[in-house]
Amino acid sequence: MRQSKVLIPTKKEAPSDAEALSHQMMVRAGYIYQVSAGVWSYLPLAYRVIRKVENIIREEMDRADAVEMMMPGLLPADLWKESGRYETYGDNLFKLKDRRDRDFILGPTHEETFTEVIRDSIKSYKKLPLVVYQLQDKFRDEDRPRYGILRGKEFEMLDAYSFSADQAGLDEAYDKQARAYRNIFDRVGLNYKVILADSGTMGGKNSQEFSAPAKVGEDIIAYTDGTYAANIEKATSKFTGVQQTAEPAELTKKATPGAHSVDEAAESLGIPADQILKAMFFMAKMSEDEYQPVMVLMRGNDEVNEAKVKNALDCEDLTLADEEDAVKYLGAHPGSLGPVGVGEDVQILADNYVKVLVNMACGANDDGHHYINANINRDFRVDQFGDFRNVKEGEIAPDGQPLKFTPGIEVGHIFKLGTHYSEKLGAQVLDNNGRLVDVIMGSYGIGVTRLLSAVAEQNADENGLVWPDSIAPFDVHVIPVNAKKDDQMAMADELDKQLTAAGYEVLVDDRKERAGVKFADSDLIGLPIRITIGKKAADGIVEVKIRKTGETIEVKQEEVVNTVGILLKQLNGEAK
Ligand code: ATP
Ligand code: MG
Repeated sequence: MRQSKVLIPTKKEAPSDAEALSHQMMVRAGYIYQVSAGVWSYLPLAYRVIRKVENIIREEMDRADAVEMMMPGLLPADLWKESGRYETYGDNLFKLKDRRDRDFILGPTHEETFTEVIRDSIKSYKKLPLVVYQLQDKFRDEDRPRYGILRGKEFEMLDAYSFSADQAGLDEAYDKQARAYRNIFDRVGLNYKVILADSGTMGGKNSQEFSAPAKVGEDIIAYTDGTYAANIEKATSKFTGVQQTAEPAELTKKATPGAHSVDEAAESLGIPADQILKAMFFMAKMSEDEYQPVMVLMRGNDEVNEAKVKNALDCEDLTLADEEDAVKYLGAHPGSLGPVGVGEDVQILADNYVKVLVNMACGANDDGHHYINANINRDFRVDQFGDFRNVKEGEIAPDGQPLKFTPGIEVGHIFKLGTHYSEKLGAQVLDNNGRLVDVIMGSYGIGVTRLLSAVAEQNADENGLVWPDSIAPFDVHVIPVNAKKDDQMAMADELDKQLTAAGYEVLVDDRKERAGVKFADSDLIGLPIRITIGKKAADGIVEVKIRKTGETIEVKQEEVVNTVGILLKQLNGEAK
């Protein structure tokens, strides 16, 4: 294809708000165009990448016995009211009305929509298991859309749903999807980890994420050199607390003016942070308009893990209480809060590591004051102990190896849902004993457009994008240095023909631009192989350059097709 016929608006400068390399380069290379914050147009090059990713997905879904179909993005709100998510999904849900004032939403995910079709179409276990999928735009009113197409308000997702009559059917579908996901991510050349994920309060024990290590990743992956890898929300480590043996001393109140943080309190009291209780005060949303105040205690040098707290409380939502609620329930502002004297109306959770402490310091629920020598049971109660903290690097993981951290981009999520939606929406089938049973579901998603960002993020360099061959918009960039010279253009056309006949996709830079501009654009666009037709064209010699390594070799025209084949094979081999 001739470059002059393709819309590739390259730019010298990245948008000023572009923090991620992938965002900068995809805009500069003319792949994507911002329509509004979090809303993007995919220009021809990006769209070619998307189509290639989609084709890989289709092949792997086929192999996993999943069947493609298509649901609307515009959904009547009724089903979402039935499932409860119209209220609980939160501010990310786009709600709108039609001209007759009926409620609609723009689908952020499609569990309800698929469950309804299955409910109305399948009555017997004999038709199950069934796995359906679609490649479709989703809508989420993200609070902070960013990093280009990594987090958009509209984005393309592969979403699949499995329906089975028994647990074995779910397990099989889940395993097949997991394998398909591995194949997909391998084939697009992504470096990723399969990690244990928090499955929230929806019951299902099994949930895994596919996460791509990258600087701009918004999740933290806790992993080991062994077999363990988990989202930090879910990660656990071996408990190493040792019961302290000091004699309980007298509870004493101390003035600690200006000491709000744990470090300031430690300084003011002369007590180490791990002997001071950090008291986090939350409001847990238990149902529609029922809120439970909750205090969570941990050592001052630990971080609270809200996902773990949320699961322990089985609440819909957990938010840090504001100052007003802190004063209302505890009589002081955050910074001076603690468990001594707290009423039964506030639930008190404490991390396991608190259990072994004796003579701790804590906020006194009196602004500017702390207690020292506070002890469990004697001075305050704890309603529930548990693992409520974030693991730390170096702690021992369940596989016996030390934990390491890396930021990661969540590119996929697979989830054993169980009967949550089928119960709510009445999707039942007759099992082989003639009894009505709730259909057991799984749901599976890949962020297709986010995947482009993740691959770009892992491979781009300071000159531009670098695409793995499997999803590059074209395989080869042919650049006649001077397109005004007939012999160079003739050779470009000839190579285009030969390479195309050999099954490669070719972009010919036929623009009458300066060589420097063409090379800079070529690096930005990031096709795996560049063929430069310059002065030596007269002798039938061209230069072949590998974008990823920068390596160049001179090749005779008649060797080009072979050379390209060998180089691409090498590159693809390395990508595995
Ligand atoms: P996140 O935690 O990043 O907001 P999520 O857990 O809410 O994502 P899922 O509901 O699991 O997302 O959606 C399936 C997949 O869709 C995710 O694994 C991710 O790859 C992708 N995805 C989710 N939200 C977005 C978004 N705003 N923009 C692009 N891709 C997204
Ligand atoms: Mg997810």
